[in-house]
Amino acid sequence: MDNILDHTVLLLSRLQGIGTRSARRILFDLMKKKELLLEPLILSLDNVAKNIKTCQQCFNLDITDPCNICSDSTRDKQTICVVEDISSLWAIENSKSYNGLYFVLGGNISAQKNQSPQNLNIDLLLEHIKSSSITEVIIATSATMEGQITSHYIKDQIDPKITLTMLAQGIPIGGEIDYLDDITLSTAIKLRKVL
Ligand SMILES: [Zn+2]
Repeated sequence: MDNILDHTVLLLSRLQGIGTRSARRILFDLMKKKELLLEPLILSLDNVAKNIKTCQQCFNLDITDPCNICSDSTRDKQTICVVEDISSLWAIENSKSYNGLYFVLGGNISAQKNQSPQNLNIDLLLEHIKSSSITEVIIATSATMEGQITSHYIKDQIDPKITLTMLAQGIPIGGEIDYLDDITLSTAIKLRKVL
């Protein structure tokens, strides 16, 4: 019996951001709420597993292809937000501040991780932009060295007629000036705005 529990904890602890201690807590909580949570969750996960699909337009994961976002007629089809992975897409989506389309690259260009532009969906992105009515491309890769290399690589290949934007960088909301690192602060100064 112990083995089944240990094995479940091990699987749960492989989830991003969940350590062994949290995994144990989650499992214990699920066991206490067998009918209310554990059984419906099993059914729901089973359903997800059987129906999971990669959207062939934006590479989001969903249970339909095209995904819910790509097939939503109320969304702005002229703006596309380029993200490195699905978790970035979901984070932006959760912010409820964006109503355009997305495109998931599948990572960043990285010599360290042996990730060349050919390993990412960049060619598909460029094709997609050419064959659509997109007028603005928002590059929302991370503010890391790899994210910036990826962003420059894409920028160099996009038709100059298309508006290219990136996420603003600088002081986080609630951030105190004297606690910021030098790079964040100098970027914030460089990207200052007229009030
Ligand atoms: Zn999609």
